[in-house]
Amino acid sequence: MSELPIRDELRGFEPYGAPQLDVPVCLNVNENPFAPSEQLVADAARAVAHAVRDLNRYPDREATTLRERLATYLHGEAGVALDTGQVWAANGSNEVMLQILQAFGGPGRTALSFAPTYSMYPEYARDTSTAWVTAPRDEHTFAIDHDDALKAVAEHQPTVVFIASPNNPTGTAVPLGLVTALHEATDGIVVVDEAYAEFRRDGVPSALTLLATHPRLIVTRTMSKAFAFAGARVGYAAASTQIVDVLRIVRLPYHLSAVTQAVAVVALEHATELQARVAQLRDERDALAVWLREQGLEVADSDANFVLFGRFADRRAVWQGLLDHGVLIRETGPDGWLRVSVGTPEETTAFKVALIDVLKELS
Ligand SMILES: *Cc1c(COP(=O)(O)O)cnc(C)c1O
Repeated sequence: MSELPIRDELRGFEPYGAPQLDVPVCLNVNENPFAPSEQLVADAARAVAHAVRDLNRYPDREATTLRERLATYLHGEAGVALDTGQVWAANGSNEVMLQILQAFGGPGRTALSFAPTYSMYPEYARDTSTAWVTAPRDEHTFAIDHDDALKAVAEHQPTVVFIASPNNPTGTAVPLGLVTALHEATDGIVVVDEAYAEFRRDGVPSALTLLATHPRLIVTRTMSKAFAFAGARVGYAAASTQIVDVLRIVRLPYHLSAVTQAVAVVALEHATELQARVAQLRDERDALAVWLREQGLEVADSDANFVLFGRFADRRAVWQGLLDHGVLIRETGPDGWLRVSVGTPEETTAFKVALIDVLKELS
């Protein structure tokens, strides 16, 4: 490696990612545990066959049908009406975030977020030569303090502020008042990453409701979590038409394959059945948080499909113990905490049984 003319910022780095291990119960990357229904599988297979007949041609560069359907979905989910031109789609919301930094970050510019938060943001900042800074969240509630946030914006003058809401790995949703205050405090772009929005508890609003009055706001979403479509790689953003037009400048030509667009449209046609599963997962999440507290553990309030719990003097030992019992969770977040995704009822039971054993073994 040392002879390669690698950029200084990349020297010594390993490709990042959660371990992909062959384990009976995988609760480590916040996937939806329910596979697509047989009806969805059949409809998607038909749509793929149709798309493949045209694969000698490049796909619709603007992914117009998909963006139209995403706008319709968001209208139903959050009650916010959007034009197709206000919606953007790419290969996972991670690609959308990279495009945001390609367009609004770059050398001499800074992106700001609030830690602990999603571990991929600093990678995209690095890859686009954008400086990366974080301000801390509250150690106990993981909330973002209003005054501290405004101070950080004044100090660092970021051109992009990332707020994950609900936050990964803590599950914390951000009040919209803070989004508004940050948007007022900066001339930069404010990104609210709503990868887990569909799992939010009743009464927690989506930042989509702010789009009409906040011209520099981008709300990103994904089909990877609630939609149970992580393998398809579809993420999207809602923003002003002007912002979307800027993202269209930096996107690779034909970035979203015809097959991806076709299966995503089919999945959106099945949104109702998927939303029923989401309701079930939210209930499971709340029950799991209650159960963990009953075990005497600390649990962060979660609006997502995972729960951060602790605190352990040696979290690595707990993580490893669970793995030895065939349950893979995630060693992430502040020291002492672990994150578990909400699985099927059977998977959750396996996790609980294993955790009781492991805590007994370690005590
Ligand atoms: C999972 C996740 C995403 C989604 O990534 P995709 O590229 O759409 O699969 C985005 N943001 C956060 C905080 C996440 O946890």
